[in-house]
Amino acid sequence: MVRQRVEQIEIRGQSIECVSCGALFYLTAQEEQWFTAKRLSLPARCRNCRKTRRWKHTIDVDSEKVKARDEAFELAMRNAQKVINKYR
Ligand SMILES: [Zn+2]
Repeated sequence: MVRQRVEQIEIRGQSIECVSCGALFYLTAQEEQWFTAKRLSLPARCRNCRKTRRWKHTIDVDSEKVKARDEAFELAMRNAQKVINKYR
């Protein structure tokens, strides 16, 4: 019974060539169904590339936040320096 189910999944799943790195990755029937149910196109990238892309995006967003925070910190330090100079 279990074996039959596995074979069914294998038949209904598909191999896709990643557009980023060219590696073949396997999309299971469940994943295929999930994408179809959400009316999404099937993934063109393997899991690693998708993860890397998401990660890069997160880094970009984070670096913007860090930049803003650094600027705020620098401004605060400059203001603090002014106060210190005043009392010298
Ligand atoms: Zn890839």
